[in-house]
Amino acid sequence: MFTLIKKDTGTEARTGIIQTPYGVVHTPCFMPVATLGTVKTLSSEELLEIGVEMLISNAYHLYLKPGVEIIEKAGSLHNFMNWKKPIVTDSGGFQIFSLENVKVEDEGVYFRSKLDGSLHFLTPEKSIEIQNRIGADIIMALDYCPRIWDNYEEVERSVEITVRWAERCLSFFRTSGIQNQQLFGIIQGGIYPELRNRCLDKMRPMEFSGFALGGLSIGEPFEKTLETVNFTARVLPSEKVRYFMGLGMPLQILDMVSLGIDLFDCGMPTHIARTGSTLTSKGKINIKAGRYKNDFSPLDEECNCYVCRNYTRAYIRHLLNTNEILGLRLNSYHNVYFMTKFMENVRKSIDEGCFKEFRKNFEKKYNIDSRTSYDTSTADKL
Ligand SMILES: [Zn+2]
Repeated sequence: MFTLIKKDTGTEARTGIIQTPYGVVHTPCFMPVATLGTVKTLSSEELLEIGVEMLISNAYHLYLKPGVEIIEKAGSLHNFMNWKKPIVTDSGGFQIFSLENVKVEDEGVYFRSKLDGSLHFLTPEKSIEIQNRIGADIIMALDYCPRIWDNYEEVERSVEITVRWAERCLSFFRTSGIQNQQLFGIIQGGIYPELRNRCLDKMRPMEFSGFALGGLSIGEPFEKTLETVNFTARVLPSEKVRYFMGLGMPLQILDMVSLGIDLFDCGMPTHIARTGSTLTSKGKINIKAGRYKNDFSPLDEECNCYVCRNYTRAYIRHLLNTNEILGLRLNSYHNVYFMTKFMENVRKSIDEGCFKEFRKNFEKKYNIDSRTSYDTSTADKL
C-alpha cells in the first residue's frame, strides 16, 4: 500500500510511504541491486547499518540458481539472505530479453539458460508463481522489453504482448489468492509517444499496486528518456507507486524525482565501486588514479560513513590497484551509503518544501560531467 505524504509545489516531486509485511519504505527510494540475493561484497547487516530500506533481487537468476525450492525451504528470500526488510523481485524479463536466441510467443517466452544452455519456457503465470514462492514483498508482472535497436513494429508488438501478459499476471495473482505481496505492472513502448500512450491507456485501469516504466535507460539519449517520462509519469495514477527501472545516477534521479518518480534501482553504485569509481558530493571520481596516491583524506569529505570515518583515499586506491577484496568492499559500502543518504536528503528537501533549492545546490556542487547516461546492460544485473 502506498500513502502520499507531501507533494512539492513547483515540481511533480513527492514523498510517500510504501507499507509491506517487512516494514515501511520511504519514497523517493533508491534500491541497491541484489541480483543473486546479495548486494555484491556487502552483508545484509552492513546494508541494514547503512540504512537501506529495500533491495531488488532477480527472480530469473534465483530460479536458475540456487532454484526456487531451496529458497522456499529457507522460508523466503528474506530468511535465506537474512534480510528482514522489504524486497522487490524483478520478473527477469529484462535479462531474458537480453539473451541470444529468445523466442517470444503469445503464450510465453522460450529461452536458454546462460548457465548450462538448458531450454526454459516462461509464461506470465509461471513468473508470478516463481516470485510468489521466492516471497518478495513487491513482485513484477512479466513484460516484453524490446531492445534499443528494435524498430517501431517490434516495439508495437512488445506493447501488445506486455498488455496481454499484464492481464494474465493479474488474473493469476487474484485467482491464486496471493496475499502479503503487491504486484506492479510495467509500461513499455520504447521512446515512441503513441506506443507508450497506448500501453498506458490499456494498463492504467488495471488493478496493479504500482506502475513501473520499463525499457528506458537502455542506451537511448537521455533527452528522450526525460521526454518519455515527462508525459508518462503525469498520467499514471497519483495514488500508486511510480517506479523507474534501472536508473541510478544522482543527477538523473533528481530529474526523475522532479517528474514524480518514487522508486529507482540500478546496479551502478556497486558495479562502479568494483571497477574503481567512487561517488562523492563533488561528483564521481576514479579513485584508482595516480592523483590520489598521497591523498590521506576520506573518499568524500562530507560523508559520515564507516569507511570515510576510518580509511583514506590513498589506502583504498592501494587496495583496488592490488585487487584486494577489502578495496571492493569498502568502496561498495561507501557508494551504497552515498546513494542512501542522497535519497534521504532528497526526501527531506521535499518534505521541507525546498526541493528545487536542494536540487540546484546539489547540481552546482556535483561535477556536471557526471551527467552521462549509464547503460544498464553493463550493470551487475546480468
Ligand atoms: Zn563514505
